[in-house]
Amino acid sequence: MKFIQLKCPNCNANLEAEDTLDTIYCKYCGTRIAVADQTKELIEAKTKLKMADKELEREQVLHQQEMEKKRYEDKQSIKTALYIIILMPAMLITVFGALWLILSLLN
Ligand SMILES: [Zn+2]
Repeated sequence: MKFIQLKCPNCNANLEAEDTLDTIYCKYCGTRIAVADQTKELIEAKTKLKMADKELEREQVLHQQEMEKKRYEDKQSIKTALYIIILMPAMLITVFGALWLILSLLN
């Protein structure tokens, strides 16, 4: 047996009831309150909250994955730029070196 928190639908007072009871009466205004209904509502609210949490978690994971992908793409484009910067002079040196070699052999 445990106590559950209830709210009186009439006067909004916070009440406590044993979870074994079906109904209680508000000690402030005497309204009859169905414990089972409130418990069910509480469980539903908790379930909804949990689902919202999961949804949020999923969105955060998706966001993180997207950020990682973007970071990876950024890295790739930097790599490509570096390759061009390094390879272009190397290719020019090779071409001119070959030309120079041919010309010096011809003389
Ligand atoms: Zn009440």
